[in-house]
Amino acid sequence: MPGFELFGEAERQEVQDVLDSGVLMRYGFDGLRQGHWKAKDLEHAIQNRFKINHAQLVSSGTAAVSMALAAAGIGAGDEVIMPSFTFVASFEAILMLGATPIVVDIDDTLTLDIQSVKDAITPKTKAIMPVHMCGSMARLDDLKSICVEHHLILIEDACQAIGGTYRGKALGTLGDLGCFSFDFVKTVTCGEGGVVITNSSKYAKHLDHFSDHGHDHMGSDRGAETHPFLGYNFRISELNAAVGLAQFRRLDEFLALQKKHYSIMRQALEPIDGVTFRTVPKGGVESYAFLNFFLNDLESAREVSNAFKENGIDACFHYYDNNWHYIRKWNHLKEQQSLYPLSDEVTKGLDYLRHKTFLKSDHYIGRNMSCLVKLSWTETQVRERAKTMAECIKTVYFNR
Ligand SMILES: *Cc1c(COP(=O)(O)O)cnc(C)c1O
Repeated sequence: MPGFELFGEAERQEVQDVLDSGVLMRYGFDGLRQGHWKAKDLEHAIQNRFKINHAQLVSSGTAAVSMALAAAGIGAGDEVIMPSFTFVASFEAILMLGATPIVVDIDDTLTLDIQSVKDAITPKTKAIMPVHMCGSMARLDDLKSICVEHHLILIEDACQAIGGTYRGKALGTLGDLGCFSFDFVKTVTCGEGGVVITNSSKYAKHLDHFSDHGHDHMGSDRGAETHPFLGYNFRISELNAAVGLAQFRRLDEFLALQKKHYSIMRQALEPIDGVTFRTVPKGGVESYAFLNFFLNDLESAREVSNAFKENGIDACFHYYDNNWHYIRKWNHLKEQQSLYPLSDEVTKGLDYLRHKTFLKSDHYIGRNMSCLVKLSWTETQVRERAKTMAECIKTVYFNR
């Protein structure tokens, strides 16, 4: 990742089709569009590839998560369990519906810690939202059993793990609903865009209407359509979908490159004492979008992070000190810095964040380095990079 590194003729051709017909909208204008339905084609491609009944494209990954929650009927007063390590989009999507994000610890998978999830369940809990961070998955079997036992909805945020699998099934298809982002820096990009996938025809109908002002999409006269329930506009445009269509067809090419580059880096780091790798749950196959490893302690991780930067190793993240992906720096959430009044339920519901600690998460994120696996590297570049990374780590340990 990211897919934009390999933009080429295929992407240009799909966009050119849309420009030639001039129909930039995904619905209607049947006569004008000269047979081009980029959003529909991309939805079908996603359904076929992931063996899922329904795919609803939307305007972003964040919108996809919100739409998934809304489709499942989650809103004011409801609690959604989410991990301490994720992108801010996770709590944004929950808050947008007036629901309350309940942030819990992660474990050595870098995703939801099962005991912490169990401990967080209350009568208000409606959904559990694992986030398959950095190319690998949550402990989905355990989460599914918890959801069955407590009658909760399982929503997978697979935005960073497209192409990964669990027990032979595509990530995103194991929960009640799954979400992907196609933003500019993801493995597959539309520029901006996202998708919700589900096998439930009820949720699919909700997603279809809700993301387009409640339109029921019956008949061929948009103005005459009815609105069975309230909606918003989270449509994707045909231009964005066209880019995504070309990119999605190249998913296998991208995954093969990710796996190759990941493996070269991993082999270089494996022999080093004091380097361990994130746990991938049994039955899981990573998308190889990132190589994640742990160092001995927080200070070593900080020093390795600096050494990487000084030696030209870009795109390796020490998320402990990052503003966007880890609870430690989410002060705007903890202090409820909102432009507009939040509901009483959310205000009270978020109060726990003023004092809750995340020691288990600190233990893992403090020692973790996440290295993005790029597509455009040559094999020589990856090998040199892997060698430099290994040298940086050994030097840091030698000097401590
Ligand atoms: C990128 C991302 C999102 C949000 O996607 P956008 O398309 O940027 O809105 C949500 N969750 C995770 C884990 C992400 O990485």
